[in-house]
Amino acid sequence: MAISEELIQQIKEENDIVDVISESVRLKKAGRNYTGLCPFHNEKTPSFSVSSDKQIYKCFGCGEAGNVITFVMKNKNLNFVEALEYLANRVNIEFAQTYEDKQNKNKKDLLYKLNVDVAKFFFNNLLNNKKANEYFSGRGITQGTIKKFGLGYSLDNWRGLLTYLKRKGYKEEQILENGLIIKSEKGNYYDRFRNRVMFPVFDYKGKVIGFGGRVLDDSKPKYLNSPDGPLFIKGTHLYGLNFVIKNNSFNRTFIIVEGYMDCIALHQYGITNAVASLGTALTASQAKLLKRYADRVIISYDADLAGQMATLRGLDILRKTGLEVRVLTVPKGKDPDEFIRSNGVDAFNKLIDEALPLIDYRLRKAKEGIDFNQSSMLIKYAKRVTEILAELNPIEKDVYVKKISEDTGIREQAVYDLLGRELTKNFSENRDMNNVEVIGHKLYIEPAYMKAERALLKIMSTIDEYYESIVNNIESSGFI
Ligand SMILES: [Zn+2]
Repeated sequence: MAISEELIQQIKEENDIVDVISESVRLKKAGRNYTGLCPFHNEKTPSFSVSSDKQIYKCFGCGEAGNVITFVMKNKNLNFVEALEYLANRVNIEFAQTYEDKQNKNKKDLLYKLNVDVAKFFFNNLLNNKKANEYFSGRGITQGTIKKFGLGYSLDNWRGLLTYLKRKGYKEEQILENGLIIKSEKGNYYDRFRNRVMFPVFDYKGKVIGFGGRVLDDSKPKYLNSPDGPLFIKGTHLYGLNFVIKNNSFNRTFIIVEGYMDCIALHQYGITNAVASLGTALTASQAKLLKRYADRVIISYDADLAGQMATLRGLDILRKTGLEVRVLTVPKGKDPDEFIRSNGVDAFNKLIDEALPLIDYRLRKAKEGIDFNQSSMLIKYAKRVTEILAELNPIEKDVYVKKISEDTGIREQAVYDLLGRELTKNFSENRDMNNVEVIGHKLYIEPAYMKAERALLKIMSTIDEYYESIVNNIESSGFI
């Protein structure tokens, strides 16, 4: 379906490019234009320029240029239509209506409104329930935080919510569609959430799409979430994201925690770039959503083993999306909520600073339980390390081999040999001589000329003067 030229024009006109870019780049007025550090390449002195008159931007460093729509596409990783929709929402232009079937939209609007009424109901219940209030105050949650996150309480009653909503004029089918009630075998309806503290789940625009409820005691299940429905789809949202992006000070860096309470506690203590994945493993669609707003993510899950396994699985997805991933370890098996409550925000900020890059974190895990005096253990270690380094480029591999050597006391060449042995083994097991990836691995056992060539290329690409002198002195045919 085509989007009308007028609509595109209107969206462009109402989204001033200086405003839009200012949301992610600090711009300074310089004459008729604005300048700042380019978001598309790394630089220390500003060469990124925005013209308010012409409503365009251009970077004199990397050459990126365009209008407000291309900026949003590049900066938030969106396609053309998604960028238009984002900009339309930003200035409250109805965009979906021209796209979606109007009836479908009206139905969705009603389900959103229903959720808002439910959130209000839970919120008011909380004001009047001592036990639920004690739950939050016992965890250091302030009244301000309760309001900000719209926390609430579901009554200890089979039809508390149902009765309230029917009185408001909603039909059972609508309430059922949002997953708030359950139909029994006999065809009776009853509330899904009973006697739980409630967390409304917002999408990135701040719309209530579902709910999570936690028991007040030790009964099971500890957490209960809305089932998938027209508004809520598991693994596609990030709890807290709407608050983070509203704040603007997140500097394209996010902290990912596991649960509601971790996220809320961090926000309350001033760590306002925290989001919760609401599940142990992050999904590709969550990673894509993150990539719109972030370049770096710091993962901070519970330090127990389950958490660590989840960490590794989820982290690969993040890394493949192009995010720089770090792992924050909370000491003594505590979760971030407990830790920040008992140690304060400065101690948590210190953990953030000490968060390890993903590869370093994995290498540290690979060392666990390895006795470097036993050769059988060394093979085991080499196997683990090989897997970790497999996807790195040769230059990164060199850096990490050096690190491993410094770290373990094994000579660099011995590390290469260990890796080489593992790889040759995999190689002959596979017998897939045409597989480039397998052959690529062979670079581990590396002739000196290759190493020298790579070092030269590295120098050329990082130091301008050397580039000149290398280009002037070595013919490209001299490279293998
Ligand atoms: Zn640039």
